[in-house]
Parts: sequence; structure tokens; C-alpha cells
Amino acid sequence: MIIINYTKLIEMKRIIFFLFIALVLTGCALNLLTGRKQLNLVKESEVQLMATDQYRAFLSENKVLNSGSSRDAAIVDRVGARISKAITKYFETRGESSLLEGYKWEFNTIDSKEINAWCMPGGKVVVYSGLLPVTQNEAALAIVMGHEIAHSVARHGNERMSQAMVQQLGGMALEVALAQKPQETRDLFMTTYGIGSEVGAILPWSRQQETEADQYGLIFSAIAGYDPREAIPFWQRMAASGGGKTPEFLSTHPSDATRLRKLEQFMPQAMKYYNAVK
Ligand SMILES: [Zn+2]
Repeated sequence: MIIINYTKLIEMKRIIFFLFIALVLTGCALNLLTGRKQLNLVKESEVQLMATDQYRAFLSENKVLNSGSSRDAAIVDRVGARISKAITKYFETRGESSLLEGYKWEFNTIDSKEINAWCMPGGKVVVYSGLLPVTQNEAALAIVMGHEIAHSVARHGNERMSQAMVQQLGGMALEVALAQKPQETRDLFMTTYGIGSEVGAILPWSRQQETEADQYGLIFSAIAGYDPREAIPFWQRMAASGGGKTPEFLSTHPSDATRLRKLEQFMPQAMKYYNAVK
């Protein structure tokens, strides 16, 4: 015999209903770039402010290479300038420049053996010098940087942070969370934006987010004049790198057969952009 506890059932239904309404009313937004609905409980402008603070803190705690004396930093600067110009052009052509509102591009290279790179909201990019021996050429570096920037402009970090805020902070608004739980909120920011190794936890991007970042990363690099076909050998080199120790980048961006298959699928579209600027 099945005994149903009606009081509990009604209570659960009530919670689910309110959670659902709260999310629908406040959080779901259509992403202009991808055309996908995303949970978004955090304002882009607030996240950008927080990103700028965390970016400054990160740079002050690490050795930043100068593009005047470091060849690696000079390459990163050059790729950054071309990619950011390509993205601006891409959104202008589509009438979607609002997606870059508040963006103040910055590209910094830090002296580190780690194979890693990331982009915080607002266009704050860091490349670890350990990545360059794996990218080997400028086009592959452009593909990685394009991929990271695509995560940022597709608001993937905001989506992930919103999901984590629902789970960990009960859907608290960002400004409230910052005021009431500043450290937890900052840690959450670091883990959800893929730079959480310092706080001991890191979340991989979801398969869907990875696929979107790959697709738009290829397009952005192609518009910047970099051959998108370099993505395939790059991801194969990534899979072979590390010598037994999984690089930071691979723990958040697994290189597997699905990624390579999807990259092949996106290649004709990216090649159209590449051939148009060649
Ligand atoms: Zn990614």
C-alpha cells in the first residue's frame, strides 16, 4: 500500500511552484548570441564590476609579463587586439553591439607553467605562458582566446553563477549576497568563472557551453584572419599534453571525441568567414 503524505506533497509543490515563478520572472533571458534561453540572476554590469576587482587582485598576485620584453606577451597582445576587433565587427554587423556593453578589453600574460587561459566578464583576459608551447602558433592561440571570450560574451559564467546561487545561496540577488556573504560570493564567482583553483574547487563548463564557445571561438578567430582549421590539431595536442598530470585547462575543457566531432561540424561555417577576410 502506498501512503501519501499530503501535507509534505503540498509543501513540496508550493516550494517548486515559487521557485519556478521566481526563476521565470527574474532570471530567464534569451541570449542574443546563441538564441538560447539562460537562467540569469546576475546583472552583467554588477558582474563586470566584480570581475574588474578580481582581475586586478589576480594580476597583483602573479608575475605579469611585459610585451616590450616578452615575446609571449607580445604575441598575446597582438592576437588579443585582432580578436577583440573581430568580435566588435561581428556584433556591429548583426546589430548586437549591446552584448559588448561595458567591455574594456585587457589582455595580460602571466609567467606560469600552467596550461591555462580565461576571460572574465567585461573582456578581462589572462593567458598563462605555459599555454604557448601547446598552442605552438598564433592561430591556435587565437582559437583558445576566441573560445574563452565566447564563454564571456555568451554569458556562460553568469548562467553558471546563477545556477550556483540558486543551489548555494537560495537564489539571493548578487548585491544582497555580496553584502551578506562577501567571501562566499567571491569564492563562488571564482569557481563559476573557471578561475577557482585558488579556492580549491573548479567546475567544468557544461557540454552545451563548451559547444557554443567552440562554435563562436572558431568564428571570431576566422574573422580575425586566423585559420580555424588549427583547432583540430590544437585540441589533439591538448589531449596529449600534461604528461600524466591533467592541465588546469583540460579539467574545465575536456578534449574528447565529441569536441573534435563538433569542431569538424562547425568548420565549414568558420571557413566561410575565414575565406571572406583572407
Ligand atoms: Zn570552454
